[in-house]
Amino acid sequence: MHSNLDEISTQLLNCDICVVGTGPAGLSIVSKLLKINKKIILLESGNLSDTGDHDFLNIGKSIGPRFLDVQSSRLRTFGGAGKLWAGVCRHFSLNDFERNNWPINYADFIPYYIDAYNLFGLNSNFNFEENSNEKYFLYQNLKELYKNDSFFNAKSFIQASEKNRDLTNKFGNEIINSKNINLITNATAVDIKINPFGNAEKLEVFSINKNKLYISAKKFVLCMGALENCRFLMNSRTRKYINANSFGKGLMSHPGFSNIGKLYLNPKCLSKKNNKKINKKLKYFNTELKQEFINKEKILGHGFSLKPVNIKNKLKNMQFNEIINNLNYVNVFENIKCNLQNEINIPKEWDVSIGIEQEFLENNYLKQSTSEKDIFNKPILEVFWDNISKKEIKTIQIANRYFARQVILSKLGVFELSEKLKNNSVFLEEDSINHHIGLTKMSKKGEEGVVDENLKLHNIQNVYVSGSCVFPSSSSVNPTLTVSALSLRLADHLINIV
Ligand SMILES: Cc1cc2nc3c(=O)[nH]c(=O)nc-3n(C[C@H](O)[C@H](O)[C@H](O)COP(=O)(O)OP(=O)(O)OC[C@H]3O[C@@H](n4cnc5c(N)ncnc54)[C@H](O)[C@@H]3O)c2cc1C
Repeated sequence: MHSNLDEISTQLLNCDICVVGTGPAGLSIVSKLLKINKKIILLESGNLSDTGDHDFLNIGKSIGPRFLDVQSSRLRTFGGAGKLWAGVCRHFSLNDFERNNWPINYADFIPYYIDAYNLFGLNSNFNFEENSNEKYFLYQNLKELYKNDSFFNAKSFIQASEKNRDLTNKFGNEIINSKNINLITNATAVDIKINPFGNAEKLEVFSINKNKLYISAKKFVLCMGALENCRFLMNSRTRKYINANSFGKGLMSHPGFSNIGKLYLNPKCLSKKNNKKINKKLKYFNTELKQEFINKEKILGHGFSLKPVNIKNKLKNMQFNEIINNLNYVNVFENIKCNLQNEINIPKEWDVSIGIEQEFLENNYLKQSTSEKDIFNKPILEVFWDNISKKEIKTIQIANRYFARQVILSKLGVFELSEKLKNNSVFLEEDSINHHIGLTKMSKKGEEGVVDENLKLHNIQNVYVSGSCVFPSSSSVNPTLTVSALSLRLADHLINIV
């Protein structure tokens, strides 16, 4: 069933589980709770459709030397930023978990990754082993880069379709028609009452017209997005129960640097045999140093992304004389030769970009504003995102060196660094990645993190948090698949204990 908080006259509602937030985290949990016979309340700050009326609640400031977008990267509506995201998915690696003390056993977590891929309509045809070159890889044809003695591994991402990536398309009607789920929109959670035994008793919820509702539940689950989860915990009565030094710290994203260099491949024809799928999808490919070299060099995870330079666009931007000077007759002959052999000519010139894992640093943090409050009289959030760190720069430089070497060793061609990388100006470019990670990390011990391995607040008996805020590390891959997998795992845990 569904109602808008302004239509509800009762002041208190009871349930077994109250889930706050309907982005990918909240809806992944609810996808499992739909199947059980328990009373569930699902709260959403925004409206059922994206009217934009509640987006002003996402106000916040980026106060550090680097800008991090905290407003247009979030959406207050049923579905959350699940209505904005590009659907690019990849699982974290075993090394991501082990190197960064994730308090979760990776092998036990793989089934949840597979479920999460399925949830977004994707086939999880990956090999989850470390150092394996994946079968599911568009560029089998560049396999010289991945011979056994190579420094590099293939790293493929898959993208959920527009329809599948927004979970409201899949579960919206089922939720609204469900008898055990009560979806309440225009319902912003503002505070929570905790009893002397460390049990959360009542959640205080307001509409933007200030209609008030209390929710009493056996278990509360906060899925308000990484930044908002942290702000809620800071602004509410939960704060005094959280004693981890890391609380509000270690804000991470995925710094990305485009066109750091060009890869020039030697002319080569490829067999069309076994490559039908590949030929149609010659878009881009990704690669990363093998884990043993990442560990040896003490650098961070990263991903090179290589895209063929679009010759048509290139020609469009060139002057006539330049075109004449640049006409590459050899290339024309190569194309003819490949065609005669019924083979394809692999693109010669590739733009190389890199995206990196960000390290957990205390000087990247979220704090409460001391000067501005929202309409519920709670401080707005401020994020401090520092300049790119020495280790992050070292990661890019070392990965580049290995890449240049590998390209030559594999007799593929040459890798040329761009001027903006050589003079470091690339590191001053504004980052457009919209991933907010960290701030309330999970840990085995309460002093070290905010939630335990089951995502429960360490010192409160019945409040859980799900989202990328609980990640102890960012990995170099997109976060939402892992958010969803963690949420599916949490749903199983809740079903077992409620
Ligand atoms: C442009 C863009 C592209 C992206 N592309 C990718 C990608 O390709 N791959 C990838 O992995 N990730 C991508 N992301 C990131 C992805 O969108 C997030 O990781 C994901 O949405 C996080 O899900 P969530 O449920 O934790 O939070 P959200 O999606 O932010 O959902 C939070 C929900 O909680 C509600 N809420 C907030 N506060 C309250 C409150 N106090 N009370 C009640 N409800 C509340 C909000 O209205 C919202 O509905 C992208 C993001 C953007 C902006």
